Amino acid sequence: LTSSPKRSGLYVIHIAAEMAPVAKVGGLGDVITGLSKALQSRGHLVEIVLPKYDCMEYSRIKDLRLLDAVLESYFDGRLFKNKIWVGTVEGLPVYFIEPLHPDKFFWRAQYYGEHDDFRRFSYFSRAALELLTRAGKRPDIIHCHDWQTAFIAPLYWDLYYPKGLNSARICFTCHNFEYQGTAPASDLGSCGLDVDQLNRQDRLQDNSSHERINAVKGAVVFSNIVTTVSPTYAQEVRRAEGGHGLHSTLNFHSKKFFGILNGIDTEVWNPATDSFIKVQYNANDLQGKAENKDALRRHLGLSSNVRKPLVGCITRLVPQKGIHLIRYAIYRTLELGGQFVLLGSSPVPHIQREFEDIANHFQSHDQIRLVLAYDESLSHWIYAGSDMFIIPSIFEPCGLTQMIAMRYGSIPIVRKTGGLNDSVFDVDDERTPTELQNGYTFLTPDEQGMNSALERAFSHYLNNPSSWKQLVQKVMDVDFSWETSAAQYEELYSKSVARAKAAAAGR
Ligand code: ADP
Repeated sequence: LTSSPKRSGLYVIHIAAEMAPVAKVGGLGDVITGLSKALQSRGHLVEIVLPKYDCMEYSRIKDLRLLDAVLESYFDGRLFKNKIWVGTVEGLPVYFIEPLHPDKFFWRAQYYGEHDDFRRFSYFSRAALELLTRAGKRPDIIHCHDWQTAFIAPLYWDLYYPKGLNSARICFTCHNFEYQGTAPASDLGSCGLDVDQLNRQDRLQDNSSHERINAVKGAVVFSNIVTTVSPTYAQEVRRAEGGHGLHSTLNFHSKKFFGILNGIDTEVWNPATDSFIKVQYNANDLQGKAENKDALRRHLGLSSNVRKPLVGCITRLVPQKGIHLIRYAIYRTLELGGQFVLLGSSPVPHIQREFEDIANHFQSHDQIRLVLAYDESLSHWIYAGSDMFIIPSIFEPCGLTQMIAMRYGSIPIVRKTGGLNDSVFDVDDERTPTELQNGYTFLTPDEQGMNSALERAFSHYLNNPSSWKQLVQKVMDVDFSWETSAAQYEELYSKSVARAKAAAAGR
């Protein structure tokens, strides 16, 4: 196994289930890469540990090689061998763990949604800590993300700290409290955690069932730093309506709980250099944006050469995203004389079917197109070709698509919730300073709310083109880079490391 080089900055290891662009399902993948790159450029040593999925984008990994040593890790009372691969993704060193377990945990042709996800990821969490221990790594921070690697926090303190992997503080980021990783308490034993010790109200026991344990709750209890992905969402989840059952736990641990707004990777999302789009452009030269719009319309078989606003939407189609309002916006856009392009797919069969019906209905329509797929290259093109971008979420921990849309000059129309509330400010809201106003917002998640924002945007676009153009130019210049957020993480990491050092010196 490789050893870790010495540096003056912090040594941070992210352990996660996703990383863009090699293994991305949603925003989590973007965050792992974006935050890591920003921390690396601030002088820290950053490494990432991922499962070696069969369905990864292998072409985006540089210099992938198998290490000689085989790693043994514990599960279900015995040891299993794992192959360890290393490679470089976006300039970042990544370890990939390939379990040689008969259940072929990461040979499923998909990332999540398997009947044994709890086993797959508790196995991975344990193997990742085993890797760090065997490799003799001495990180300052082990940063785990979402329920899939939430097991890291109790595993670290109960099993690995005593084994000598004891240099680190644990940071846990929850990207969405809807997904908590709950299971019958006995399932926790597979990865070697002590069920009797941990199935307690103040530890991993689920707040609504004494027979179940909750991985995210465990990470909240056992981590030194707990964050979520926007300040507004951090407030929302501390209330009964928004906490998905964890509000009391989060309130109890509020001193170590922070909301930090995600950034976006401004190198990947840059209309001036983007090779996925037809014509590169910038805020001072919007002709390219118009050309992308026309090319997109032709590509999708929509009518072109008319000044009609094109509304975009790129999303996982899950209830959180305001499915009924997305559907409503498609029909309402048509009535208002606009065009609509949706790129999305759903892990929920009945939602997928519902949108397939709508897609079929509009199959050869010249104003509406639904593409029910995951398509990275088309996503770039839609950001570039759309004038407006809707995100009517019921709740939204951070949301990245509003920031990406703005970077490409597409004006966001969003529900005021979570990170959308922290990044989109209504152009008609007199209480917001003009320089911050950058989109359209509505509060009540119903058709009226959606319609009022959509109508205002259409009216602005159609009746006042020069002011619309200024708005487009303004939002393209908003700084959504990782710089500010990475500095906030850095501060939390440093303070936590300093506290640990002070405590050790005082002993
Ligand atoms: P979430 O993490 O809840 O899915 P975010 O807004 O945080 O939502 O992140 C969504 C990310 O996934 C964005 O980068 C968006 O462009 C991308 N994305 C979502 N759906 C698709 C799709 N069907 N095809 C391509 N990219 C998609």
